[in-house]
Amino acid sequence: MSNQWIVGVDLGGTTTKLAFITMDGKIVYKWEISTDNSNEGQFITSNIEKAINEKLNDLGQTKAKLLGIGMGAPGPVDYETGTILNAVNLGWKDNFPLKESLKASTSLKAAVENDANCAALGEMWKGAGNGAKDLVCVTLGTGVGGGVIANGNIIQGINGAAGEIGHITVIPFDGAPCNCGKTGCLETVASATGIVRLAMGELKKAESTGELRALLAKNGKVTAKDVFDSARNGDELAQQVLNEVSFHLGFVTANIANTLNPEKIVLGGGVSKAGDILLDSVKEYFAKFAFSAVRKSTQLALATLGNDAGVLGAAWLIKNKLNQ
Ligand SMILES: [Zn+2]
Repeated sequence: MSNQWIVGVDLGGTTTKLAFITMDGKIVYKWEISTDNSNEGQFITSNIEKAINEKLNDLGQTKAKLLGIGMGAPGPVDYETGTILNAVNLGWKDNFPLKESLKASTSLKAAVENDANCAALGEMWKGAGNGAKDLVCVTLGTGVGGGVIANGNIIQGINGAAGEIGHITVIPFDGAPCNCGKTGCLETVASATGIVRLAMGELKKAESTGELRALLAKNGKVTAKDVFDSARNGDELAQQVLNEVSFHLGFVTANIANTLNPEKIVLGGGVSKAGDILLDSVKEYFAKFAFSAVRKSTQLALATLGNDAGVLGAAWLIKNKLNQ
């Protein structure tokens, strides 16, 4: 068993990431295929099976090398049954039996979990969590996802919807609309899209000069990365946007920490590539809103696995199953 591999899969609406991973969490080989969500998503699992077989062949291996397949998928997941409750982007009808479908296609042991939860498990296992058993992950990407791990297990909630940190309300009145149907969610101010929206709002208001305004004039738009780069270079307007984003993230993470007192709260996703300028600024607000026992013990950190967190966390699901 010790020299066998686990297949980790991170299923996205357009791309599926796959990896062969050892029992101690080393990625042996990783690759991507495009996600075919036509015909109500009926080709998704058979395409994964095909991709795995092709790659095994290329590497001179057979199915006997594989212990199981773990998968992270978007949307709420019933972990026990492996059912995807709702995944419009993938073409599946509600309550799609993904684990059963994976098992049938691959004839491997299968486990399925929400993708943000998988990223959290990956960071716990091999990333910034460094084995911490109480960990919260906030993924700042196009949207904002979250995963809460208590005593080594993902908190699922009654309907698989726990840990949706992105939908914590931060602007109670007159907030911007969120993809979830609500307004004023953390996602509307701390996702890449949210940060751009805040920046455009400031750029429209102020008569300032500066780097960010120059970038807007030059490119016809600004990105979240532009905001952080400009803030780093001293652009006041960009610093103001950074401050606003950090305030909301510090406020939310401090209150999560006041509730759970995890060992670590990890900021991941594309936006977290901003690095220390974001982390240091969030830490300031975190320290302000976390009460003393929490402030002294819960640590804020940047994710370290990047795009690999999802496949590693998915593989961990199988490793954990085998250990039980
Ligand atoms: Zn929302």
